[in-house]
Amino acid sequence: SLPLSELDPDVADALAAELHRQQSTLEMIASENFAPAAVMEAQGSVLTNKYAEGYPGRRYYGGCEHVDVVERLAVARVKELFGAEAANVQPHSGAQANAAAMFALLNPGDTILGLDLAHGGHLTHGMRLNYSGKLYDVVPYHVRESDLRVDMDEVERLALAHRPKMIVAGWSAYPRQLDFAGFRRIADAVGAYLMVDMAHFAGLVAAGLHPSPVPYADVVTTTTHKTLGGPRGGVILSRADLAKKINSAVFPGQQGGPLEHVIAAKAVAFKVAAGEEFKERQRRTLRGAKILAGRLLADDVAEAGITVLTGGTEVHLILVDLRNSELDGKQAEDRLHRIGITVNRNAVPFDPRPPMVSSGLRIGTPALATRGFGETEFREVADIIAEALKRERPEDELRARVEKLAAAFPLYPHLDGGPA
Ligand code: PLP
Repeated sequence: SLPLSELDPDVADALAAELHRQQSTLEMIASENFAPAAVMEAQGSVLTNKYAEGYPGRRYYGGCEHVDVVERLAVARVKELFGAEAANVQPHSGAQANAAAMFALLNPGDTILGLDLAHGGHLTHGMRLNYSGKLYDVVPYHVRESDLRVDMDEVERLALAHRPKMIVAGWSAYPRQLDFAGFRRIADAVGAYLMVDMAHFAGLVAAGLHPSPVPYADVVTTTTHKTLGGPRGGVILSRADLAKKINSAVFPGQQGGPLEHVIAAKAVAFKVAAGEEFKERQRRTLRGAKILAGRLLADDVAEAGITVLTGGTEVHLILVDLRNSELDGKQAEDRLHRIGITVNRNAVPFDPRPPMVSSGLRIGTPALATRGFGETEFREVADIIAEALKRERPEDELRARVEKLAAAFPLYPHLDGGPA
């Protein structure tokens, strides 16, 4: 019963340093967010001790009466949040949600269509070294070179030529909304399942600020920790008639005991996501991304050969295009890191530079919106980033502006001993 700081000071010190990093810098990795204290409380609870293989009411272990309550709440809330017929809240992560959904509906060797990783797709949508690339016959589709939007004509052409069993729609680095109705029409034309991976934009969908894929897709997967702002984890939504297959693909197909402490945290996050405050936060997220795009499209930035992919954004992130700039993705990421802004470099479609260097930056606003940033603060952040990328202002000056913003919006003060 020793506190962590006494039992294991090495780990405690690393946790304290990470808390300080999160508090003192500006987090703009598009896939990250800050979970509410109540979500972390649920996740750090006694449910971590419980085995509960199976599903509520049908467990392979005794003593599951309380975890059943929690898991039923999580399922009911996420179904309600997204208007889905069925939900499985057990996948440990987004990648495992995708693996289980594919395992449920496909056989090894079946053909799938997915957005090319280099064009914004995710590893699990068919990357060569991922399970998806190894188990299935993958036909990648792309964005058009002219406007960098997903080329639905190509999707249709490839679907007709290869007759896939599943079309995967979704992305990790793409600043626009997808045409779910278009994907449905193509899937129907070739008798394919449509799986939408909404991991990135699920929070926007929950808030009603982005079209929902649920009415169009056979199966919708998501993570719970990105725009949704919950604990790290995955969820699978589906039509009712696929639920049995999907449940058995998750357990016993892919996983053993579910992480009931994480499922409790998911339940809390879904409750939060159904509220008015969450909606308002997602509005600020979108507004922040638009402000950022607008600032980085201005003439003074364009003069440095820097622009924004697709000329803007409809979601929570932008992709900075450095293909015509002397600055590469690695240098830009490092420069922002030095002034206290965390982003990730990202290959852009048709990138002339190698992936480890790349010609892009992915910058997202969800974490800062959660921290409380509104229009004024996002304008200041956008200006700091523009100045940093143009490399005209001294780094010390920009770092001081970052620190001022971070200090004005305290994060997790209760973990410093302050009020929750
Ligand atoms: N799907 C998409 C679209 C993602 O962007 C990600 C994560 O980056 C995942 C799935 C995988 O989620 P996880 O990292 O929880 O496995």
